[in-house]
Amino acid sequence: MVEVTSTGVGYQDLTPNPAFPTAKLVERRQIAEDLMVIKLESSEPFKFKPGQYCTLGLGKIERAYSIVSAPYEKYLEIFVELVPEGELTPKMFALKIGEYMSVRPRAKGIFVQDKKARHHFMVSTVTGVAPSMSMVRQYLHDLENGDTTDKQVYYIMYGASYVGELTYDVEVNDLAAKYPEIVKFVPTISRPTESQNADWKGVTGRVNNIAEEYLAKFDLPKDDTKVYACGHPGMIEDIKEKLLPQGWNFIEERFWKP
Ligand SMILES: Cc1cc2nc3c(=O)[nH]c(=O)nc-3n(C[C@H](O)[C@H](O)[C@H](O)COP(=O)(O)OP(=O)(O)OC[C@H]3O[C@@H](n4cnc5c(N)ncnc54)[C@H](O)[C@@H]3O)c2cc1C
Repeated sequence: MVEVTSTGVGYQDLTPNPAFPTAKLVERRQIAEDLMVIKLESSEPFKFKPGQYCTLGLGKIERAYSIVSAPYEKYLEIFVELVPEGELTPKMFALKIGEYMSVRPRAKGIFVQDKKARHHFMVSTVTGVAPSMSMVRQYLHDLENGDTTDKQVYYIMYGASYVGELTYDVEVNDLAAKYPEIVKFVPTISRPTESQNADWKGVTGRVNNIAEEYLAKFDLPKDDTKVYACGHPGMIEDIKEKLLPQGWNFIEERFWKP
């Protein structure tokens, strides 16, 4: 049994629900005080499509997490933001390597790659990059292994307030350099004047404000493009208001309600 002191309410049983498979914490990378990337080993094979989410739990508390890893990878990789007053994330941040969460046996979600489109324009903020990473990793894996001959192009528009939050920038930059016809990467910083961003030489502005400009720059055809927006609800609302009336094929995944 795992027990933690929960301020003011005594002890809370955080034993993972025995009705579900367990997810053992095998790796953890602290990105910032409030951001971490974790890898979990499921006690049972966990099937999912790139873009879907899993449901993780401690005791009776369960939440949805989009999966960063691709289905071919051994571990479930999750990018988590701490919500200081939240029920689950403070407990997740306190987990030690080797400890367990529960994982519901079925992945969920319809935020998956549109098989009819060739161009995938993916707009995200911080942790919202997860589905894009899963889709790109799986596609490139299949391409390298000769499991697909489909021609797909991924445009990863990745926004954050601070450079340090652009967690997957090194990986995506490397992919864009190695596969320039397949992966296009536009990281953007919304607070360029702040000291943490002093060395930033790249694109600036909120990702929702620059999306239209880049749809035009990349000269994307509406009838062969899917726009995906994932993460911050305000970003999604804004981009949806801008792009839906123009007839863009659009799908969204909101991580929370304001
Ligand atoms: C489909 C789906 C996929 C998701 N994928 C991820 C993911 O990959 N990574 C991830 O970190 N989270 C993800 N989330 C959010 C996650 O499910 C939890 O809501 C979040 O981790 C907070 O849980 P909590 O129990 O600590 O806070 P709660 O007790 O659930 O929430 C407390 C309050 O904070 C708000 N809130 C929740 N998240 C945030 C946030 N990030 N910023 C500001 N306010 C917030 C809630 O709306 C609520 O009002 C996803 C949510 C959905 C629906």
